[in-house]
Amino acid sequence: MNDLREFWEWALKLEEPWKISDIAYRDVEGEEEVHIYLDVPRRSLVKCPECGMLCKVHDRMKDRTWRDVDMRGMRTFIHADVPRSDCTEHGVRQTNAPWARPGSGFTLLMESMVLSMVRQMPVKTVGDLLHEYPGRIWTLVRVYSKKLVEGLDLSGVRRVAVDEKCFSGRDEFITVFVDIDTGKIIFVAEGKDAAVVKEFRTFLREHRGGSENITDFSCDFGKTFVHAIRKYFPNSRITADCFHLVKLANEALNDTKCGELKLTVNRMRAKYLLLRNPARMTEEDLALKDKICQDNEVLGIAYRLKESLCSVYMMGDAYLAEEHLKGWMRWARMANMYHFVKLAGTVEKHIAHILQWFTSRITNAVMEGTNSMISVIKSRARGFRHVRSLISMCYLVSAQENTDMYGRGV
Ligand SMILES: [Zn+2]
Repeated sequence: MNDLREFWEWALKLEEPWKISDIAYRDVEGEEEVHIYLDVPRRSLVKCPECGMLCKVHDRMKDRTWRDVDMRGMRTFIHADVPRSDCTEHGVRQTNAPWARPGSGFTLLMESMVLSMVRQMPVKTVGDLLHEYPGRIWTLVRVYSKKLVEGLDLSGVRRVAVDEKCFSGRDEFITVFVDIDTGKIIFVAEGKDAAVVKEFRTFLREHRGGSENITDFSCDFGKTFVHAIRKYFPNSRITADCFHLVKLANEALNDTKCGELKLTVNRMRAKYLLLRNPARMTEEDLALKDKICQDNEVLGIAYRLKESLCSVYMMGDAYLAEEHLKGWMRWARMANMYHFVKLAGTVEKHIAHILQWFTSRITNAVMEGTNSMISVIKSRARGFRHVRSLISMCYLVSAQENTDMYGRGV
């Protein structure tokens, strides 16, 4: 038994004055459990948590329990009476159990393991595997993500991509702000209105950043973000995200009514050919697409309008691009197709932001990884009931350094 105690003292990395007082094995409803009892021997001195001075033990907080990582499939628990120090300067203070975070029911090692598991799989699955209530695991996720957020240093953030993301089928949205230069999520807010941009400004200030540091924003064509950025970040330049422009052009093509179509391929295939980037198509697909456009006059015009608008990014500079966009708007209005006329209005309103790309060269491409990450988190959780849980998980999964809050690798 002494060898076993030595082994556990070594495995738990116990430091003076902590000792193992007992080890018990139990069978609880067919599940084996190890219970390790720790103690601070009588007349030991303990460190005051305020000043670190060695002091007498005043009394002990009885029977605290922590769940540790399983030992060969046996659920492992640590029990201890944690002493309170009697410091001459600070009076009676609760000392910390060195194997756990204050207030946690898990050991540090267990927390690290749980956090690495929830980055990879649903919280419910982690709970089932570890025989723990998901609520306990969610508490850990929230505590850790709060620590990550508190530790954020946003003094180096200059260029920001912002986009909204639907997080449930009930029209509930979050807005995600990503540092374009590092690709990291820096702020996630509930909702998608102007207030989130104001919240972002406050958040920057609280994390060593400042609105005056932000030189550029990349965002969609919605008036909400544009107006809010102008109001709360008056010195920042706005670049309309090129992927959103391509998306709007594709939507206009998709929504345009082209009458009865003459097709040699099925509708789905035709749609696929018309919405794809021609630069990435095979010769055969290009020929098929040309045939569809020749056989259907209205569709052919709508397709050329879409392609022409997307080709603005092929122009050599902002001057040529502006001429191209002006010509495109005249053409779209003359063609008199409702969805393209509407799109011409959007282009006119945002022309300065579209042209800004030729100077800033920034896009929301950096958010692609973020979007797929959020989709994975959402599908894992099968619908978050609480938006705060989704936000906590976003920060947790986005923290790329695979380390826990104590700086150890997990
Ligand atoms: Zn003290």
